[in-house]
Amino acid sequence: MELLKERIRKDGLVKAGQVLKVDSFLNHQMDVELLGEIGKEFLRLFQKDQVNKILTIEASGIGIACIAAQYFQVPVVFAKKSKSKNIDGEVFTSRVESFTHGRVYDIIVSKKFLGAQDRVLIIDDFLAKGSALEGLCKLVKDSGATLVGAGIVIEKGFQEGGSLIRGQGVRVESLAIVDHMDEETGEIFFREG
Ligand code: 5GP
Repeated sequence: MELLKERIRKDGLVKAGQVLKVDSFLNHQMDVELLGEIGKEFLRLFQKDQVNKILTIEASGIGIACIAAQYFQVPVVFAKKSKSKNIDGEVFTSRVESFTHGRVYDIIVSKKFLGAQDRVLIIDDFLAKGSALEGLCKLVKDSGATLVGAGIVIEKGFQEGGSLIRGQGVRVESLAIVDHMDEETGEIFFREG
C-alpha cells in the first residue's frame, strides 16, 4: 500500500534493536484518515471471505481494527493481556512473548465472544517474530471458529514471524513489508509488490 509506505518513510523512526517507531501516526497518536484507507484496503483484500468478526490484541491493534470493522460492518473482539490464570474455564487463553517489552504474558478472550459460527479476520499493527499473531491464531483454533486470515499493517520481513505463520497455512496480508532498516541513516527499505 503505497500511501502507507510513503508515510512510514516520512515519519517512521528506526530505533536500536531493529524497532520501528511509528507512534506519530499509528500506535500512539493515530492518523484516523490513514486508518480509514488501511481499513478499506483490508476490506478489498478480504471482502470475499464472509468475515463476521475481527479479532485483535490490546492495545495498539484496537483502533486499527475498529476503523477497519466499520467497512466490514462486523464487531471487533480484542484479546486482553492478562496476569491472572484461566481458572474458571470461561476464556480461551494463549501465551505471547512480547518483542518490544521483552516479557511473556497470557492473552484471553471470553468464550462468549468467539465460537464455531465465526469467520475471523485477525488484525494487528505489527508482525515481527510472530508470537502475538501465533497466540491469536491459537485462540481462534481453540474456539472452533474459522480463521479467514490475518491483516497486518507493518510486517518486518527480516524477522521470522511472516514465514512462521504462513508456514502454518495461514493467509497473511501485510500492507507494508519492511525488508531492512538502517539504524545509522534511518532509511527504511520495503519489499516490492
Ligand atoms: P511479534 O509477536 O510478531 O514479535 O510482535 C508483534 C507485536 O510487537 C506487535 O503487536 C507490536 O505491538 C510489537 N512490535 C514488534 N515489533 C515492533 C516494532 O518494530 N515497532 C513497534 N512499534 N512495535 C513492534
